[in-house]
Amino acid sequence: MTRLTVPISAEDPGHADQQIRAAAAAGAEMLELRTDYLENLTVETVRALMAKVGTLAGPEMPMIVTCRDGRQGGARPYPNKLRMQVLTAALKAGADFIDCEYENFRSLENQEKIRVALSQSSRGRLILSAHNFKGRFPDIRKLHRDIQTVCPPAIPKLVYTANHINDCFEALDFLHQTSGERIAFCMGESGLMTRILAAKLGSFVTFASVDRASATAPGQLTIEQLTGLYRYASIGPATSLYGVIADPVGHSLSPAIHNACFESLGVNSLYLPLLVGGGYTEFYLFMRAAELRKYLHFGGFSVTIPHKQNALGYVMREKGIVEPLASKIGAVNTLVLRKEDRLEAYNTDYAGALDAITAGTGIGRENLKALAVAVIGAGGVARAIVAGLSDAGARITIYNRTREKARKLASEFGCDYGGLGDLPEMDAELLINCTSVGMHPNIDETPAPDNCIRKGMTVFDTVYNPAETLLLKQAKHVGARTIDGVSMFVNQALAQFRLFTGRRADPELMRATLCRGLADDEKN
Ligand code: NAP
Repeated sequence: MTRLTVPISAEDPGHADQQIRAAAAAGAEMLELRTDYLENLTVETVRALMAKVGTLAGPEMPMIVTCRDGRQGGARPYPNKLRMQVLTAALKAGADFIDCEYENFRSLENQEKIRVALSQSSRGRLILSAHNFKGRFPDIRKLHRDIQTVCPPAIPKLVYTANHINDCFEALDFLHQTSGERIAFCMGESGLMTRILAAKLGSFVTFASVDRASATAPGQLTIEQLTGLYRYASIGPATSLYGVIADPVGHSLSPAIHNACFESLGVNSLYLPLLVGGGYTEFYLFMRAAELRKYLHFGGFSVTIPHKQNALGYVMREKGIVEPLASKIGAVNTLVLRKEDRLEAYNTDYAGALDAITAGTGIGRENLKALAVAVIGAGGVARAIVAGLSDAGARITIYNRTREKARKLASEFGCDYGGLGDLPEMDAELLINCTSVGMHPNIDETPAPDNCIRKGMTVFDTVYNPAETLLLKQAKHVGARTIDGVSMFVNQALAQFRLFTGRRADPELMRATLCRGLADDEKN
């Protein structure tokens, strides 16, 4: 069982009280007293802090006492002598675990003090930790063996910075290929999945902070994120994995909506943000690593900027199955790994948009034939929508800031084209904004002047942040019908969910989760 451990990183006793209470209330299964954060550290202040844990979090709350060396990420440069005094006194005062740096434990003097204190403690145990803030260890297996040789009963803790998500697989393999009590994860934004998957692979602990401000290491999640968004309590060895491959990925709301649907349907699956930096090579290495590691149970991926073309290239190279319209669009936003090792690629953006249009206009797909459509924009989303609508037989004119790009896209799909200055002359029943104009924070911008929006037409804005853009307000003002970008986003996610699981997710739950996420983003 992986213990969800919350570091207490207070500078003074008052702040420590708040953190201990908050950690216990949020569901911490163990506390780590990071005594190196305390101002004016003494053995007495540590004993007092330990006593507080019993009072505020209950006598059963296990605790690790750590006084991290400044050279390995400690908050204050306390001298070795004081740090050893703190650790040995903590054992005497009943700490369940103390954490000492393996590097410092190799000093015979330190080792002797700790061994004596351990022998006098009825329950105290030792965690021997190693940290590399720059990148991977030269040889993580050897380091593990060395720690086990020096002190077999100790729990090895091996933590390194992932400079790229592909660095995570070494820590995951290590956990998968070893057994017993051991801790391994990666620091940094790129290491995020190892902190969550610690629970799947049986790491002895995983760490999460009370709030962002009290995080003790780069990339540490908050306990609220780990238990809420990532459903920590439901993660186990058989949990299957999905995720969104993107760069950047931090603000993606896909984890929130997919995890909410897994939860509501009682599906033992977890959806992760997967920050895959770089180009095709990095994407390829990530996909190979994820596909080869069957023990991770990856079942599929959402793919977004900048990897939609890379995903198509990858599946073609690996001789997977590409949905015909996805290859015509030249971009893939969904990858599915079937049990029988079959890789499938889809584009749910065009279907999501088409479903939003048919629901919003009340016109069935078969009746989109000959519908006059004006598409503003000639980027990735425009391409998917133009492909879908031209497949359905609509009459499309593409308007773009860069006219040449409009011309190119139009020639590929047999459409008309123009520049943004031509918009007032357009004669369309359906107007679609496929540019980023009007997106948060530039919410006072619109891609279309008032004089080209008429009552009787339908206006669809693919921008979903905010849900009601200035363009949609203009349309409502003249009595035009409107379709928001949230509908398209929810539709493409619903289609992905069905491809991943074969099940239908609740559109209302997705929409509500998405809108809540957008509102939270706006507050922060
Ligand atoms: P993209 O490939 O980068 O294309 C951006 C398009 O916007 C281009 O046509 C660009 O014109 C135009 N543009 C950008 N800034 C402009 C400005 N200031 N004035 C006029 N035109 C401007 O991006 P994309 O992937 O197509 O995404 C476009 C938007 O779609 C996103 O911003 C997002 O809001 C929305 N979206 C919605 C969903 C959904 O599910 N609802 C999904 C994905 C994206 P140039 O060619 O002249 O540069």
